[in-house]
Amino acid sequence: MVSNFPAIADAAPEVTPSSAAVISVQNVVHRYENRTALNGVSFDVRPAELFGLLGPNGSGKTTLFRILSTLMLPTAGRATIMGYDAAQEPARVRRQIGVVFQAQSVDLKLTAYENLWHQGHLYGLRGPALKTRIYEILSRVGLADRAKELVEKFSGGMQRRIELAKGLLHHPGVLLLDEPTTGLDPGARRDLWQYLQTLRDEEHVSVLVTTHLMEEAERCDRLAIMNEGNLVALGTPEELKSEIGGDVVLLDAAHDAGLLAERIRAKFHVETTVLENQVRIERESAHRFVTEVVEAFPGEIEALSVSKPALEDVFIRRTGHKFWSEENDAQSSAEDHSRR
Ligand code: ADP
Repeated sequence: MVSNFPAIADAAPEVTPSSAAVISVQNVVHRYENRTALNGVSFDVRPAELFGLLGPNGSGKTTLFRILSTLMLPTAGRATIMGYDAAQEPARVRRQIGVVFQAQSVDLKLTAYENLWHQGHLYGLRGPALKTRIYEILSRVGLADRAKELVEKFSGGMQRRIELAKGLLHHPGVLLLDEPTTGLDPGARRDLWQYLQTLRDEEHVSVLVTTHLMEEAERCDRLAIMNEGNLVALGTPEELKSEIGGDVVLLDAAHDAGLLAERIRAKFHVETTVLENQVRIERESAHRFVTEVVEAFPGEIEALSVSKPALEDVFIRRTGHKFWSEENDAQSSAEDHSRR
């Protein structure tokens, strides 16, 4: 049963039940009518960790994000933040978390200061203490000198920083961000990630961030990689990449990739994965191997590449398909459209 939501403002600070995990996701299932968006997902986020939820469109990131931010109840399983159950004790959870949603929540017609003033009132902050806190947080995001300007005059990156400031105003120990760099230019993306790292290092805030970008996932301490509602990998980016032995060879087939893969398997006794018109092979001493393959199959290979393992390779190894497929892109954009 979901308890009534007490006003956040009147609640006194409480003792947090002891738990090593700051966020604990335990076998969480979510179904939208007949579609399973989360299929029994479990992981923990540790204190002062920058934790990434990486997955292609439609993998279930936003659904899990909404459950953690107490906006939705899971169909089954349990999610706790600082020991509080997101479904049973949403008001307590909300006091522990700052949330930055994908959709803009700043009021463009108000100044930066006014946006934060209203946010502060929602959390029971008032008067001089609130004013001090607003300037403190605006300095943290580098916008104290712009406090009295309308937010509509800010760049996309600056508006995102105001969103962050709103999320952090009440000193949460946990910050949840849903694809926070969407629509930002590369410079603003870098700034935002640097800020998240500072927040972790200097204020020991635990950060959970969803992303579909590999280069952002690389910056996380640990990652949960999702695919079609399932957790397919969990670990540090280095741990995950180290499970791939040697280099990754990609061959563009001139004709039938399936047939080429079969012939390579038979001749070289290696495992192959077929990805659209490509054959993918993990192999030590790959340079010698590619010479042998090209000589063995003249005219069958149009192009080839050899690279060090990347997170995309971890995804392919665990799922058997590419991170970005035309299918999942087309499916999710059609659904995004119909949900609007
Ligand atoms: P992501 O954030 O990784 O793109 P989502 O959590 O938005 O993934 O979606 C996971 C799955 O649930 C997708 O198949 C999506 O189409 C479906 N889904 C999401 N929201 C709804 C909804 N409101 N109604 C029906 N299906 C939904």
